[in-house]
Amino acid sequence: MTESFPLRVAVVGSGPAGFYAAGALLSAKQGIEVDLIERLPTPWGLVRLGVAPDHPNIKAVSRAFEKIAAQDGFRFLGNLDVGAHVTHAELAERYDAVIYSCGAQTDRRMGIAGEDLPGSWPATAFVAWYNGHPDFADLEFDLSGERAVVIGNGNVAVDVARMLCLTKAELEITDTADGAIDAIVGCGLEEILMLGRRGPVQAAFTTPELQELGEMAGADILVDPADLVLDDASAVALEEGGAIPKRNVELLNEYAARAPHGHPRALRLRFLVSPVAILGDGKVEAIEVVKNVLVQGDDGQIRAVATEERETIPCSIVFRSVGYQGVPIEGVPFDDRGAVMPNDGGRVLDPSGAPVPGLYCAGWIKRGPSGVIGTNKKDATETVEILLADAAEGRIPRRAAEAKPIDELAAARGHRIVTYAGWEAIDAAEKAAAASTSRPRVKLTRWPDLLAAAGA
Ligand code: NAP
Repeated sequence: MTESFPLRVAVVGSGPAGFYAAGALLSAKQGIEVDLIERLPTPWGLVRLGVAPDHPNIKAVSRAFEKIAAQDGFRFLGNLDVGAHVTHAELAERYDAVIYSCGAQTDRRMGIAGEDLPGSWPATAFVAWYNGHPDFADLEFDLSGERAVVIGNGNVAVDVARMLCLTKAELEITDTADGAIDAIVGCGLEEILMLGRRGPVQAAFTTPELQELGEMAGADILVDPADLVLDDASAVALEEGGAIPKRNVELLNEYAARAPHGHPRALRLRFLVSPVAILGDGKVEAIEVVKNVLVQGDDGQIRAVATEERETIPCSIVFRSVGYQGVPIEGVPFDDRGAVMPNDGGRVLDPSGAPVPGLYCAGWIKRGPSGVIGTNKKDATETVEILLADAAEGRIPRRAAEAKPIDELAAARGHRIVTYAGWEAIDAAEKAAAASTSRPRVKLTRWPDLLAAAGA
């Protein structure tokens, strides 16, 4: 042990990156103390509130987080918002190092006309709502129309489209928020239309997710074979690309050749179309799209370029699923263009490009909103290795010994923190509520209920 240990580290944001960072710090076996600070009363970030409820196997990664939380030196400080209840400066005074792992908390904007019409939603809001996020519990999605449009070709778009297609039997074994189950089961949707601006070779979704779309109990998958005719550059990209686009294109061809089963809903995938406007008188009534062609630039990238050909498609609700976006924290450097904290391997950099001593980042706020849950393990471990090297080499300033701990500071301001025991009480209450059902839990979706269950 060097003289710079034991360290006290605050990790802000308790999603996968935050838990993996905490785990890597505790595994260093240097007596490090970790406070995992979370804005919500519940941990796990997108594992609880982003991963689709019909994917329990992916959600099961929370068991690994529970093992991290059980280690000596770990504390969970929930219901504590850095920026609202305490400041970054107050954290920096109390901890030797702060790691931000606060993810990408909002949606990317498209910048098209009608984007803010009632009925045009960021997919991020819909995902948060069906997962029971307490900030989204009061949203009302009007699913009474015949067609919903999902913009984007990533795995979030696939999740949203699939969730809209699930049957009662598929939903009632999940922890989907109660209101969302009722709304999806009782909805009038006949077609869910997913729009990709580029072609099938460039789609961002992965093969298992695409495969599931062909196995839905209550919805047919429809693909127009004409959309699968590849331009030369895409054909080469497919030949030279990895296994994912090849398998995706194989599956899409299989779907295009299928005769529909006649299920009550249909999920239609279209490619090479970009929304240019969302139309309607006071609410969404249609979406105008332009047909694209693909053009390969000098950098080798294959981009969508609009043609003159336009089409208006009637619809009653639109979900814009074009990516999440990071938001700044006051007092912490932020790169507005990339919507990340500027960093070198996780060391946060000031505007001159120099590392800010003791300030680090991990996960989506470090690299942008990409990759699967496991990607965050490597990412957070890289940050922690750099932090430990900085500590060992005396590059981290030691905290002021006398400052009141952050939880006591918040308490002195009359703010109530939810501890790990409080979260365990919420967890137990949710599981108890599901005891007579086939659901893993019935989520508490409102702030007062969560705080009451936490006993805080
Ligand atoms: P994503 O994978 O980056 O996909 C974003 C999609 O939006 C792309 O198809 C992109 O098309 C499209 N897009 C961007 N701007 C657009 C515009 N102006 N008009 C039309 N389309 C536009 O993002 P995501 O779906 O939000 O997912 C975030 C990350 O979470 C991804 O790494 C994803 O794999 C992961 N995730 C994984 C799972 C899972 O494993 N089951 C589930 C959910 C999410 P271009 O390619 O043309 O830019």
